[in-house]
Amino acid sequence: MDIPILNDSPITQQRYRDLPITMFSESNIAASSAPSLIVLNEKLLSEYGIGSDWFKSEKGLMTLAGNDADPISSPVAMAYSGHQFAHWVPLLGDGRAHMLGQMKSNVGSLIDVQLKGSGRTHYSRGGDGRATLGSVLREYLISEAMAGLGIPTTRSLAIIKTGDTVQREKITPGAILVRTASSHIRVGTFQYASDTQEISVIKALADFVINHHFPELEQHNDKYVALLSEVINQQAELVAQWMLVGFIHGVMNTDNMSIVSETIDYGPCAFMDTFKPNRVFSSIDRNGRYAWDQQANIAVWNLSRLAETLLPLLDLETESGVKVLEEQLAEFIPKFNFTLRQGMLKKFGFYQPADKHLEFTSDSLTMLSEQKIDFTLFFNYLTNLQKGDDDEPLLELFTERDKGIAWLNKWRHLKSDNPEIRIAMRRANPVFIARNHQVEKAIRAAEDNGDFSLFKRLAKSLANPFEVSPDNEEFQSPPLPEEIVTQTFCGT
Ligand code: AMP
Ligand code: MG
Repeated sequence: MDIPILNDSPITQQRYRDLPITMFSESNIAASSAPSLIVLNEKLLSEYGIGSDWFKSEKGLMTLAGNDADPISSPVAMAYSGHQFAHWVPLLGDGRAHMLGQMKSNVGSLIDVQLKGSGRTHYSRGGDGRATLGSVLREYLISEAMAGLGIPTTRSLAIIKTGDTVQREKITPGAILVRTASSHIRVGTFQYASDTQEISVIKALADFVINHHFPELEQHNDKYVALLSEVINQQAELVAQWMLVGFIHGVMNTDNMSIVSETIDYGPCAFMDTFKPNRVFSSIDRNGRYAWDQQANIAVWNLSRLAETLLPLLDLETESGVKVLEEQLAEFIPKFNFTLRQGMLKKFGFYQPADKHLEFTSDSLTMLSEQKIDFTLFFNYLTNLQKGDDDEPLLELFTERDKGIAWLNKWRHLKSDNPEIRIAMRRANPVFIARNHQVEKAIRAAEDNGDFSLFKRLAKSLANPFEVSPDNEEFQSPPLPEEIVTQTFCGT
């Protein structure tokens, strides 16, 4: 649905109103008592080819903060269900988010603009609809780090401090995140549509997704099977990419899995420092369901839930339909393994790899874990060796130095001197990841003292994570023992 362009707002459509009425509910943004624009991601706007004037204007700020008597769009909150830690929750939905509509990029694609922390909606249950400044700063840093690494993600366009406080463990400042994405439809959105028991609803949703995001499938013989197959491909790629940079999503519930495979809903997530395959950060993940090395299995579990919702749309008897969908799901692990393996080989700088390289890669990961080595720093120093740096920084990472020397000898024996691999190796091995202790430090300074300088410097480095300069070297460092953050909380 087109909405009239008022006051030069770049938000000109509200496509989710084309979905069946059960899929969303109209909801006004709550007013903010003293809104201020803390951060505007001008780099992102220029990637979209969209000007920043409206976002910097009083009208823009008042609209995004819910204080505009003449709003530019009629926002909606979207309905979705979800399996949270495998437990079925029939109705979740946007309990503190408002979809404002879409902007059009300079290449014609539509970009969702959603507010998070913008007040209560039909789906809020007991929640206050608000977000803390800390959680918003965190999502900004981590999502923009992900984008800097070239991994698909929702983006953070702006942060607005509301001027109101939010009651959590203590009273903290409130904020709104302006989030953008290709889509905000989740696996949980399909589950909600399916739960209505109306085939027309799930069909309308699947057709909407194909029309907007997979138009090439329109002509396919069985477009719903093809849709599942595309999502499986993209998710396999995404999860492998996360793992290659040590990322742990933390809450891979079906409601936090995007149908267009952008990383979404940064809650208790983290990039790991010291390598440990079964690492968990989330304080609520007591059984390690969403550990680093479980993420592919969980993705398959979630995609199986998606497949179930599509079953009634197939032109097949149930039994044959299940078989066809299962065949698609079986493709996930081989695809994921392929991307992960290729990526790991690049991280080690192996060119035209053979079995001996694969074996060495696998043994090396065990070694990294046993020696308790920082994942990012290790590959960063290894990359530096290719350009002739000294062995010492890498050797110092080993708990047992003799094991380090032996390992390096073996690696030198296997590595290639092909100049192309140096570039590939650098692209595979970032200097900067959003390290928990630095993210926490930046949040503390902003929340406690209103000082955003560290946040801004960190955000700038994370946006360009492959290049280090003397003024941001400090962000390479893993935490000192007293700085280690072992858990992140669902601090909303
Ligand atoms: P999340 O853990 O952010 O993925 O959220 C899970 C569910 O809880 C979603 O339906 C959210 O909209 C809802 N939710 C989270 N925080 C709040 C809040 N402060 N107020 C209302 N709903 C919330
Ligand atoms: Mg969520």
